[in-house]
Amino acid sequence: MAADVRMERPRFPHGRVLETGDGAYARAYSLLNESSALSSARAFRTMQARPLFPASTRLSLGLLLLLPSVVQGQRATRATEPPYDVLITRGRVIDGTGTPAKRADVAFKGGRIVRVAARITGAARDTINATGLIIAPGFIDPHAHISAIAEQPDAQNFLRQGITTIFNSLHSLDQPYPLGAFLDTLRIAPNTLWTAGHTWARKRVMGTQNRAATAAELDSMRALVSRAMDGGAFGLGTGLEYIPAVYAPPEEIVSLAQAAKRPGSLYVTHLRDEGVALELALAEAIDVGRRSQQPVHVSHLKSTGKANWGKSTAVLAGFDALNARGARISFDVYPYNAYSTYSDVLFPGWVLADGQDSVSARLRNPALLARVRREMRDIFEAQTGGTASSVRFRTMPTAPEFAGKTLAEYLTARGQPSSLDAAIDALIALQRDGGFTAIVEAMNERDIEAFLTHSAAMVSTDGDLVTPGKGFPHPRSYGAFPRVVSYYVGQRKLMSLEAAIAKMTSVPARTLGLLDRGVVQQGKIADLVLFDPATFADKATYTDPHHYAEGVVHLFINGQAVIRDAKMTGARPGQALRRAP
Ligand SMILES: [Zn+2]
Repeated sequence: MAADVRMERPRFPHGRVLETGDGAYARAYSLLNESSALSSARAFRTMQARPLFPASTRLSLGLLLLLPSVVQGQRATRATEPPYDVLITRGRVIDGTGTPAKRADVAFKGGRIVRVAARITGAARDTINATGLIIAPGFIDPHAHISAIAEQPDAQNFLRQGITTIFNSLHSLDQPYPLGAFLDTLRIAPNTLWTAGHTWARKRVMGTQNRAATAAELDSMRALVSRAMDGGAFGLGTGLEYIPAVYAPPEEIVSLAQAAKRPGSLYVTHLRDEGVALELALAEAIDVGRRSQQPVHVSHLKSTGKANWGKSTAVLAGFDALNARGARISFDVYPYNAYSTYSDVLFPGWVLADGQDSVSARLRNPALLARVRREMRDIFEAQTGGTASSVRFRTMPTAPEFAGKTLAEYLTARGQPSSLDAAIDALIALQRDGGFTAIVEAMNERDIEAFLTHSAAMVSTDGDLVTPGKGFPHPRSYGAFPRVVSYYVGQRKLMSLEAAIAKMTSVPARTLGLLDRGVVQQGKIADLVLFDPATFADKATYTDPHHYAEGVVHLFINGQAVIRDAKMTGARPGQALRRAP
């Protein structure tokens, strides 16, 4: 599809041309924008591989963590204290750096790893025989939706995957505020990181109005974002595919990213478009990073819609070119061919402004419906697998009996054909009544594999806090991390177990500035997962999602067991990590 057609996509409501920058970035923009014409062979020939993540200059979080060490150190002076809190013997250590597994014992005390050696002797309060188990750094999930974690403090669906640290990317509407005061109250199992949310700030200041902000409104948003940053957020987070963020021009994002800039901060984004205008949306994100002088992290990188399958090659070539020229662009991927989100993404942005009454009125207006239907045909092609069976309802307030069923099943039950016209009319009727959430099979396996195996890729869940048996969650909430191990390493054999674990540990730790985590090394914090490589696997599926992952035998967070002998201990040692000032 031609570039000018992309520019007219409704998800770029202001139809502006992105600033193209200069020097190193000009080449990258042209790569991203010409991607359909760019042959992968030419791209890979002309781009030299270099480390994608230059040594981080971020400050260590050590100061935050010093206090418990000191307390433990004082206790250790008592003669009766064993030298170690926990001693793990006879396991195989995969240390998170990508180097091969090796037999080693691991000892920790006061929340930190104090020794990693072929054989460690000495007394410990708790000794674990890890014969047959892998000892790895606790997994770091760079993108999930856990704003409600105060109500579900054990986050069991994450812990059962071996996850010890979760980055709550606030591209939705649910920012706790003031952030710093909220973080002070958390008593939870996993460690958490937070962003300063753009969508939330815009809605708070402007509601869902479809227009640019005034200077005063922009100042108000900048103040909200700045306060969240001072409360410990790691950077501005956007969800530019959602209402009301879709109405924000690029200048607004740049301005807020500049307001959010602090030492060690980064710009985190759910792109404005993940299908037909993917390259343009990436160029926008890169421009925000360039103009705010921050690294850019792209959440859940994908290419949605049958018409857009195959874009991964050119997109990754563009990243490589940029990073080789000194930019810092990172991304995460969840290992499924379906996304899950609000029905809004199946509608033109202009339909969705000003609240549900206005949305319903537009969708009842015969003069507008012809245009809505016409635009929705393109959007359906760009956002789904192209069929009514590729859309599976998760929550549908007006017809809850269809949760878990596909749009095709819904049409059949109502005696309608599974045609595109019937599907679009059904979607319009449902949106008029308040909308729904859905799981949409819209990604191609080859793109997923290309993204996942790239050296800069991290694994994410994009998951929610789930309650067993309740609703129809996307299986990623239960199984993303073990699925990479059991399916992409075990069955597809796309990469080594060591490489996969690096994507779950040291790569996100380095990118996020978590210098004390993500590797099994003396002096690092004792976030550790012990899993059985023979049984570690996801059990949740699209049609039967409510199954915890299996195979995590022990899980330690800040040196404390949260899973011991495959049972939750009830401990809540998680720290609300804050960007170091
Ligand atoms: Zn997202």
